[in-house]
Amino acid sequence: MDASSEKSIVSISSCNRYRIDTMNDSLKMLLEPWGGINYFVKSGQRVLIKPNLLCASSPEEAVTTHPVLIRAIADLVKKAGADVMIGDSPGSDDEETVYKRTGIEEVANETGARLVKFDSARGRKFYGIKARNLDLAAILDKVDVIINAAKLKTHPLTGITASVKNTYGCIVGKKKAKLHLENPLPLDFARLVIDIHMAVKPNLSILDAVIAMEGTGPRSGKARKANLLLASENGFALDNIAARLVGIKPDLVTTNYIAREMSYPGTKNIDILVKGLPLEECIIDSFDAGAAAGRNIPGLLANFPLSWFRGLRNNLRPFPVINKNSCIKCLKCLEGCPAQIIVRDSHGIPFIRRESCIRCYCCRELCPNGAVDL
Ligand code: SF4
Ligand code: SF4
Repeated sequence: MDASSEKSIVSISSCNRYRIDTMNDSLKMLLEPWGGINYFVKSGQRVLIKPNLLCASSPEEAVTTHPVLIRAIADLVKKAGADVMIGDSPGSDDEETVYKRTGIEEVANETGARLVKFDSARGRKFYGIKARNLDLAAILDKVDVIINAAKLKTHPLTGITASVKNTYGCIVGKKKAKLHLENPLPLDFARLVIDIHMAVKPNLSILDAVIAMEGTGPRSGKARKANLLLASENGFALDNIAARLVGIKPDLVTTNYIAREMSYPGTKNIDILVKGLPLEECIIDSFDAGAAAGRNIPGLLANFPLSWFRGLRNNLRPFPVINKNSCIKCLKCLEGCPAQIIVRDSHGIPFIRRESCIRCYCCRELCPNGAVDL
C-alpha cells in the first residue's frame, strides 16, 4: 500500500450553473477518483439521499441543497440499479411545505425517488466522544447507503456548515432543539455534532458549493457564486478542505477542531489528498466567513482546561438581539427557541430574555427575515 492510499480523498470539480446537463458532467468528474457511483452503490440497494433542507426556502436563496444536484445524484443512483429515497428533518416548517418549496418534491416526481419523512426515531445509545441517546431517524436503519448532500454555508456556532453539520438533520424533529439546550457551549455542541455524524456514517458526502452562502448564514446570509462541487468518503476531510476554500483555518470550524483533537482520520492537512481541481485554484476570493472570521481567541482558550478560562471563553460569545425594524412577527424564533426564553413585547415583537439565553443561535437560524443580529 503506498502512502497516498492511506489518505482521505477529497475530490473537487467545477460546476458553473444549476443546469442538469452541466451538473451531470460535473458530478461524473467529481466521482472519477472512485471510478464512479458504482463504487458506493450496488444494484438492488436502498439508497437515502440526505440534503440540507433547513426550511421552506426557494433554491435561489442558497439556504438548501439545490434540487438540480439532488436530481443528478438520484439519476446516477437509479442508473446503478438502486432504489432511491430522499429525506431530511427540517429545522423549521413542515416537511410537505419544505419539500415543495425547495424543489425536492419535483425532483422526486421526475426521478421516481421516494420522499421519506424523518418522523420516527430509533432512539439508540451511541458511544462516541461520550455515550449518548440519539434520536436518529428510524429510516437510517432501513437503507444500505447514505449519501450526505450538503450545502456550503457559514454558521454562527460551528463556523461553517458543510458535510459534518448536515447530519444533525438526521435527529428527528424537536429533539434537535432539546440537544441544543443540553449542549449550549460551542465545543460541546461540536462534540455532539461529531457523534451524530459518526452514528449516521454517510458512505459518501457531496457538497453543493456552486452557489454557497457567506456572511450571516445558515439562513440569512448572502448567496455567493463559487462554481464548485466537492466529494469525499470522509466528512471531516471534506470540511477541512471546505474551510480552506472559504479562506479560514480548518480549526476555526469547531467540529474540525474537536475531531482533530480526537485524532480522527482525515482531520489533519497531511492526511488529505485533493483530487480533481487543485485546491489553490479554487479558493473563493474574499469570502465573508461571518462569525468564524473573527473566531480565534475562543479557539485558543479551548486549549485551557481551567474552568475560569471556560467561563471567559463563554463570556466572549455574543448574544442575539432582535432587530425590530426587520422583524415580521412570524414568531418562528419564539417557537424554535430550545430554552423557551423568547417572549413577546406589547407590540407583539419577540424579546429575548438575555439572562437565560444559552446562545445556541437557533433563533437566528430559524428567522426568515434576517432579523436576529448578534
Ligand atoms: S434566544 Fe436564541 S440564542 Fe438564546 S436560547 Fe433562544 S434560540 Fe438560543
Ligand atoms: S425575529 Fe425573525 S423569526 Fe422572530 S418573529 Fe421576527 S422575523 Fe420572525
